[in-house]
Amino acid sequence: MNTHTQKLIELDKQYLWHPFTQMADWLDDTPVVIESGDGFYLIDTDGNRYIDGVSSLWCNVHGHRVKKIDDAIRSQLDKIAHSTLLGLGQTASIELAEKLVQITPAGLEKVFYSDSGATAVEIAIKIAYQYWQNIGQTERTKFISLKEAYHGDTVGSVSVGGMDLFHGIFKSLIFETYYAPSPDPYRCEGTAEQCLKNSLEAMEVILKRHGDQIAGIVVEPLVQGAAGIIVHPKGYLKGVEALVRKYGVLLIVDEVAMGFGRTGKMFACEHEGVHPDLLCMAKGISAGYLPLAATLTTRKIFDAFAVSGDIHKTFYHGHTYTGNALGCAAALASLEMFSENRILETMPEKIELIADYFEKFKTLPFVGDVCQCGMVAAIELVADKETKESFASEKKIGAKVCAAMRPKGAMMRPLGNVIVLMPAPAMDIETLRKLLDIIEDTLVNDVPKII
Ligand SMILES: *Cc1c(COP(=O)(O)O)cnc(C)c1O
Repeated sequence: MNTHTQKLIELDKQYLWHPFTQMADWLDDTPVVIESGDGFYLIDTDGNRYIDGVSSLWCNVHGHRVKKIDDAIRSQLDKIAHSTLLGLGQTASIELAEKLVQITPAGLEKVFYSDSGATAVEIAIKIAYQYWQNIGQTERTKFISLKEAYHGDTVGSVSVGGMDLFHGIFKSLIFETYYAPSPDPYRCEGTAEQCLKNSLEAMEVILKRHGDQIAGIVVEPLVQGAAGIIVHPKGYLKGVEALVRKYGVLLIVDEVAMGFGRTGKMFACEHEGVHPDLLCMAKGISAGYLPLAATLTTRKIFDAFAVSGDIHKTFYHGHTYTGNALGCAAALASLEMFSENRILETMPEKIELIADYFEKFKTLPFVGDVCQCGMVAAIELVADKETKESFASEKKIGAKVCAAMRPKGAMMRPLGNVIVLMPAPAMDIETLRKLLDIIEDTLVNDVPKII
């Protein structure tokens, strides 16, 4: 380690508080400090190169230091970095809004910008809530979400979150939400079809009992990411949509993680032809460059707020950096790259490659389950394959396995005992193969020693 790195680590430990991190452990460890990027690689302060195996936490799309996006941001910088959307229009945010409406499921026609996934969800919840107030159905004040759901870390988003480890402590701070079971084929009783049926029935029980108090249902489409990459059985999202229509509540789809190509389509909703009332996007929207987010909604919902002269129907919500021009410029360049480089068309081959490797991994004695949805995949390590017993989280098995991949040139981040693979949708197949080889080598040679 060079002295530059040593100095930075010292300063980091002196001044920073890292997200989702037990800082006492951090202070005892030696962190990697990233200084630059090059395509699908991260480069640390000692010049070591790592394949970015989780897209810099699920947001990178075309790689790092991509000329077209860099140029778009520089050129926007020559015009203006930011101006407010409160009372003013802004070129880049207008151009991007049109594109977002074009690429999202039909029916979504209005774009409300913000700056993170949590705010995109927070906004969807507040719009849904106020929608019912504005049209006089004032008893519709509650939401249904899924157990193990993750929608971000602001208090509103935590209120519809279902992860005890993250959200339990805030119980008395958050609003009450009804939880439907998470359709997890690995942990459910019975087959995937039974899992699907039981999960939807359980959701309907809540709707039957509390239907007239429900404002909306919030779901992560197809995959519950932070829960440990739970891939829902086929048809679940469509089933939720059918319930939403039957009981006349709103469907809020959180595409923050799965949007922008992760699943093999631009948005996860498309796999099941689902048309949400509100759609939240963030992470990949700016290709992982800048904090930008958006909540899209229908004309019907918009019209309940757009009432001439009625100040009580206004949506009083906004953030200073709403629709930031640099972020919008990056997003526009990213969308152009999606079509110029035919990113979605290049994905099936890569998805197939991941599936081939993961099929092999599944046979390993300590691998309980593997799952995959497009270019999102996961390996769950278990203490006992028969009983599906987990390793105690104190053993930090996932973290140790990912640490073993670093000297081999892969940067991964687990979720508990789950090894997550989420490469950038645009990653070239050679780099992806290299990454999969590192994962395989680690599973075969290092994991038996770690567990
Ligand atoms: C990451 C994530 C969020 C939160 O996004 P932030 O930008 O970190 O606030 C919300 N929902 C889902 C599904 C996510 O994966």
